[in-house]
Amino acid sequence: MTASRNIELADRLSKMTSSSTLRVLQMTERLRAEGIDVISLGAGEPDFPTPENIREAAITAIGAGFTKYTAAGGIADLRRAIIERMRRDFDADFGMEEVIATVGGKQAIFEAIAAIVNPGDEVLIPSPYWVTFPEVVHFCGGTPVFIDTEPEDFQLTAEAVRERLTPRTRLLVLNSPNNPTGRVVPPEEVRRIVELAAERDFRVLIDDCYLYFVYPPVEPFSAAGLPPELASRCMVTGSFSKTYAMTGWRIGYALGPAEWIKAMVTIQSHSTSNPTSISQYAAIEAFAGRQDSVREMLDEYRRRRDWLVAALNEIPGVKCLLPEGAFYAFPNIRGLLSGDLPTSRALADALLEHAGVAVTSGSAFGAEGYIRLSYATGLDDLQRAVERIRAYLDRR
Ligand code: GLU
Repeated sequence: MTASRNIELADRLSKMTSSSTLRVLQMTERLRAEGIDVISLGAGEPDFPTPENIREAAITAIGAGFTKYTAAGGIADLRRAIIERMRRDFDADFGMEEVIATVGGKQAIFEAIAAIVNPGDEVLIPSPYWVTFPEVVHFCGGTPVFIDTEPEDFQLTAEAVRERLTPRTRLLVLNSPNNPTGRVVPPEEVRRIVELAAERDFRVLIDDCYLYFVYPPVEPFSAAGLPPELASRCMVTGSFSKTYAMTGWRIGYALGPAEWIKAMVTIQSHSTSNPTSISQYAAIEAFAGRQDSVREMLDEYRRRRDWLVAALNEIPGVKCLLPEGAFYAFPNIRGLLSGDLPTSRALADALLEHAGVAVTSGSAFGAEGYIRLSYATGLDDLQRAVERIRAYLDRR
């Protein structure tokens, strides 16, 4: 290709940066391709295979020829399966016009924000936050307004939301269990937050990505099950990627007011057309079929969590809370930072280069002084990774 002139990119990209979690994944893959042994605790990707019944459902769909365009918002059978599952688990009451199937939870989040945020609108985002939230707000010309939850051990409260409201507040993005902290907002607090949204006239986008990965005594809770007058303030987005180890299938969903959903279908009809037909059939089986694999994965994640958090807390200079959900440990590593390692990014880079362990820096999630370790990785690898980290820190 001949050398290109500088491309003048659109203004809407001026503040958008690429995904830090996916960057760590790509860096790990590149190093492995060069023959370097890297233990990946970077991107949150389940190490389990997609359960067999789900893979079989996809193969059956291909055999039956379901390989063509579908309705932009997803086939009726999948939308019905999502509504049914939310009814069964959370007593939620949604109609067929209030649900959309999407290309992963990420597309649902993108469309939900793009459908209602105007340039100049403020979007409240509790921090630490998943890397994608502020970037999508930037893309839409909105202004992210962060609510720092670190002083409250990462617990978001309605009071903290109230303090950051302004006449320009359009939306709050709530992610519980939270990526990266694993914190769960208790149901009564979610209710208070949504009541505040009704009182002060803003909307709430609830990212349920880790909905089913909570550790006892915490139980799954979705705002989809709030009474209709409150649920109608919200857009609840979900994903099959984590719960069913289906990251590559790119399939997710959203439930919310019909008008908001309709706008999302319009965006979808001009971007991806529809989610992949085969993935939609697989997702029906995921939600309607047997759930033993989810319980098995959760038990294994809990075993790993307990081991990893205890092991991290034994490292001098590291303090780690016990996550209530998701599959990330998010230790405070300020005690390790010094002259040659001044930031969490510098530490993450050093661990990759000198210890062969990929982690994500806290700064990517708006939390300098922390790193994120995904324990969606086998216990053997977690043990080897901690040994390598300890050995690196000892020889510094
Ligand atoms: N959500 C996962 C993570 O936070 C996967 C990568 C991504 O989509 O951000 O690592």
